[in-house]
Amino acid sequence: MAKRRVLLIEDEDSISEPLAAALQREGFAPAVAGTMAEGLESSRTHPPDLILLDVMLPDGDGRDALRQIRSTSRTPVIMLTARGDEMDRVIGLELGADDYVTKPFSAAEVMARIRAVLRRTAAPAPGGGSELQVGEILMDLDTRTVTKDGEPVELALKEFELLRMLMESAGRMVTRTALMDEVWDPNWFGPTKTLDVHVSSLRKKLGDDPATPRYIHTIRGVGFRFASPDELLE
Ligand code: CA
Repeated sequence: MAKRRVLLIEDEDSISEPLAAALQREGFAPAVAGTMAEGLESSRTHPPDLILLDVMLPDGDGRDALRQIRSTSRTPVIMLTARGDEMDRVIGLELGADDYVTKPFSAAEVMARIRAVLRRTAAPAPGGGSELQVGEILMDLDTRTVTKDGEPVELALKEFELLRMLMESAGRMVTRTALMDEVWDPNWFGPTKTLDVHVSSLRKKLGDDPATPRYIHTIRGVGFRFASPDELLE
């Protein structure tokens, strides 16, 4: 099996050097980028299996880098943050980070997070996985049917595709651009209002309240996030 590539975007050598060494010891193939520009370039030219992303980079904010990464890819991202406050954590996770670690951290702690994130985001086995389930919502991809608590939910074609994309990334944000590109024709230049109309109708059919959503959360102006399985346990 090929070694899994981990891209580390971090400008401080005192952090990246020991971390890269630890990654290597643990059987990963690490790559280090010291700036945001270099990191984004590397993630495009040599797509990694996972990205460790520092928040404070010399040429920009790691959260902007995350936004850019998420506009084109679902590669798992773990944020490395020096700030422990809740606001940063929430913003990072809403922008689509899979996890975060607060500095100072031990290499062992980071390795444990990497393994957990890779396990959680592992693609379903090809050929299997004709069902998608998050909480009480179950989607059968073969029969193209959706049930909530076992009760059928009738969806139009676009609504089904929207829900599929959101559920495939449950717990992570999907950008408006990604949804528009995937669900509508890539050459669609129509108003993005269409997206909101479809999300609104999808919510209605799922019995979701836009003011206090259980399933589909709005990240204003950026995208939408379907609740993670853990959130739906409550
Ligand atoms: Ca830094």
